[in-house]
Amino acid sequence: MGRVLIIGAGGVGQVVTHKCAQVPEVFEEITLASRTLDKVKNIASQINRPIRCEQVDADNVPELVKLINDVKPDVVINVALPYQDLHIMDACLETGVHYVDTANYEPRDEAKFCYRWQWEYQDRFKKAGLFALLGSGFDPGVTNVYTAYALKHHFDEIHELDIIDVNGGNHGYAFATNFNPEINIREVTAPCRHWEHGDFLETPAMSMKMQFECPEDVGTYTMYRLYHEELESIVKHIPTIKRAQFWMSFSDNYLKHLEVLQNVGMTSIEPVHFNGVDIIPLQFLKALLPDPASLGPRTKGKTCIGCNIKGIKDGKPREYYVYNICDHEECYREVKSQAISYTTGVPAMIGGMMIIKGLWKGEGVFNMEQMDPDPFMDALNTHGLPWKEIFR
Ligand code: NDP
Repeated sequence: MGRVLIIGAGGVGQVVTHKCAQVPEVFEEITLASRTLDKVKNIASQINRPIRCEQVDADNVPELVKLINDVKPDVVINVALPYQDLHIMDACLETGVHYVDTANYEPRDEAKFCYRWQWEYQDRFKKAGLFALLGSGFDPGVTNVYTAYALKHHFDEIHELDIIDVNGGNHGYAFATNFNPEINIREVTAPCRHWEHGDFLETPAMSMKMQFECPEDVGTYTMYRLYHEELESIVKHIPTIKRAQFWMSFSDNYLKHLEVLQNVGMTSIEPVHFNGVDIIPLQFLKALLPDPASLGPRTKGKTCIGCNIKGIKDGKPREYYVYNICDHEECYREVKSQAISYTTGVPAMIGGMMIIKGLWKGEGVFNMEQMDPDPFMDALNTHGLPWKEIFR
């Protein structure tokens, strides 16, 4: 049916490649390209189907254009880093190919999550008749689709949204991050912003917490409120929302290490001159920490990510929780990755599948909640991320 070009051979890229390979009737030809060819080949070697392997610097638009023209994909799935988003979008525009990613663009020198840069591509994608699907991971991604599904089927108006991301997994290291450490630490050390009565309110990082009891005996976790990029698009597209917050679980151990690293300046993105070279402390820290892709075989436990939503249905107040539980060890058995990469890679594959199958169409730049949630929700059930609902 179609050809896909996946860019980025990291933890998420590995899952996307495995999951595309599991759906040969949609993804007839698969190319994986990344900066380091060995990593591409290593992923391809795990899969029982031919995967074309390419090396590319995704910050180099002419190089990307040459690759895309050669591969002729129907869709590019970008699972490199957020820094590459605009370059890959430029290359898709130049070659006339649809685009999917899982994280919004960030400039390297400023830890700022904001859709402005990518939304500015709206007119160019529209004029070219191309579809750019932003944030097709779990959060952003599935959380946006959950919210759109709730609005379509269970609410007349949504008033409150709490996105609750629990990782009850344990990898046994004193300190490691479950996805790219640089991106992860930039995210959790940024000031918190949440939506309340028509505006984003800023509070210090990690200053607000709550206890959350997961369903199905996953456990009770301490959740910290932080800013997450889907809040920006969801409150724009669902304007009845009066309050929207994002919560993530962190272990005491993770927070203890993070506090010390922050206090000594190791999480800074300001260059430090050392022995004749400029070093960015956070990038150096990344080099010391375990590669997230290596956590797969050692992580045990479950993730539980969902949306708790309050609003009105037929004039009456309603509270609704929709969630997925994912087991780290089961993910590793299936695709040799832990659940954080798995829960991101499956929706990225589904985003590509929605486009190739023509179930989601658009001209311009779209966030997930703008699309019909139903075919995506069905695909989650059949491709490894089944969801459940609780009416409270
Ligand atoms: P990794 O760091 O494991 O992988 C990123 C990959 O991109 C690496 O293989 C890296 O190459 C490659 N890459 C980086 N720069 C370039 C470049 N200039 N050209 C070509 N390839 C490049 O990250 P993850 O797999 O953990 O994360 C991938 C993306 O998924 C990130 O954008 C992350 O923010 C996003 N994400 C989204 C989530 C969601 O739920 N929406 C959750 C988790 C992650 P090399 O190996 O050579 O360094």
